Amino acid sequence: SERRLINLNALTDEYLRLAYHGLRAKDKNVNCELVTSFDTHLGEIELMPQEIGRVLLNLFNNAFYAVQEKQKTAPVDYQPTVTVSTQLLSQAVEIRVKDNGMGIPATIKDKIFQPFFTTKPTGEGTGLGLSLSYDIITKGHGGTMEVRTESGLFTEFIITLPTSPLPA
Ligand code: ADP
Ligand code: MG
Repeated sequence: SERRLINLNALTDEYLRLAYHGLRAKDKNVNCELVTSFDTHLGEIELMPQEIGRVLLNLFNNAFYAVQEKQKTAPVDYQPTVTVSTQLLSQAVEIRVKDNGMGIPATIKDKIFQPFFTTKPTGEGTGLGLSLSYDIITKGHGGTMEVRTESGLFTEFIITLPTSPLPA
């Protein structure tokens, strides 16, 4: 796929809106709060926008699903929130996607990047999103992808992409 110089803040914002729009189309009463913090120093970086878009879309959809699942059993004052940020590091840009949803139990945390691993009912998930995302970030862009989570409390995916152009 094609590499282009991209404003990652704009790309991230675009896909967040897209994902939120899809969520609202299914459920008009959705009350998920979106919190964004975009580092204005990012500039443009060379990446494959379509691939990074797929990664972002999957992370946002996973996050929305997680807060909706949690809401089913949460106290009435629970405020579903998805927080997205970018930050310029010394040789990389970092993207964080955090939700205060159901979290991931320690027993399955090591499996979520495996192809076809899903905890979702048939038809709701293929289990391919994170394994594909991991390959796009690491093999496709020379970046890193990690997860932090606390069961029942939150999940945060942390991606870094190198700012220097990729080898050809
Ligand atoms: P799918 O979304 O089709 O299930 P993914 O590869 O995107 O496949 O995710 C694999 C699994 O990782 C999910 O089924 C879920 O168990 C877990 N997971 C991913 N993101 C989150 C999240 N934000 N909160 C809780 N669990 C998550
Ligand atoms: Mg998914």
